[in-house]
Amino acid sequence: MRIYSGERLCSKCFTKSIEEKVKATIARNSMFKPDDRIAVAVSGGKDSITLLHILAKFEKLFPKASLCAVTVDEGIRGYRDEAVRLAREYCQRIGVEHFITSFKDLFDVQLDELVAVLKDKVRAGNETLSPCAYCGVLRRRALNVVARKAKADKLALAHNLDDEVQTILLNIMHGDAPRIARVKPVLGESHPMFVPRVKPICEVLEREIAFYAYLRKTEFQSTPCPYAPTAMRNDIRQMLDRFEERHVGTKYTVFRAVEKIRPALEAAEKETVLQLCKTCGEPTVGETCKPCEMLRKIGVK
Ligand code: SF4
Ligand code: ZN
Repeated sequence: MRIYSGERLCSKCFTKSIEEKVKATIARNSMFKPDDRIAVAVSGGKDSITLLHILAKFEKLFPKASLCAVTVDEGIRGYRDEAVRLAREYCQRIGVEHFITSFKDLFDVQLDELVAVLKDKVRAGNETLSPCAYCGVLRRRALNVVARKAKADKLALAHNLDDEVQTILLNIMHGDAPRIARVKPVLGESHPMFVPRVKPICEVLEREIAFYAYLRKTEFQSTPCPYAPTAMRNDIRQMLDRFEERHVGTKYTVFRAVEKIRPALEAAEKETVLQLCKTCGEPTVGETCKPCEMLRKIGVK
């Protein structure tokens, strides 16, 4: 296997190099304290199962730390049910406490139901957002709620380098400059009800994670989400992959470039004061939080 640096490594050295890379990202960004309770967001895909595997390995070196897994079932028939089963089985196998929540439990609607409503609205010209825009906002909320329930000090997300760079370009294409600064390894939170989020594999390429999972013979969900093709992210993924193929290192270059301009972007951003949403009681900038606003907009709340 050839890794980004151009080295050729045997499978054992490759596996070790990925773990060392994750360890370096964790150390460089001071992601954890030795006694942290860490909730790993596990979807059942290769990235999250690999992250859980690597953090479980590291956790053994820190007797005061503890690890658990959290999963959100969005309610996508024929897709998420299999992923949740794989996540549950993996957690049982390695003896990690597992907390599962669902859109149905938290918002009283499954993503499939929401998409059906959304389709009618889009047809009538009353909505332009894709299922992923709704799913992303609701899942972020659900993960925070379930991590809080698990009494976690940190929520570890399995965003790999490809995900991070795609998000940077998405924010640029949406003209959302302040959000570019928020694509970073540690998202310290400005309210005690938010569990700080960390991204230990944010400097590992997706194909490196895929190969690591393949070498470990990890069973993970490989079927793509049926709504993924509708997302702009999908077009950006293809464009970035074409670039990386022709110009090796493009993804790292974009990631590092944002690291350099982030301080200036953060300095330009106004400080926000959070209050509690008058509908659901979760912290938010305005009177109503984004999930409540979105659900109300399409008439499911
Ligand atoms: Fe949700 Fe979109 Fe991801 Fe599917 S592809 S799980 S709809 S964010
Ligand atoms: Zn709310």
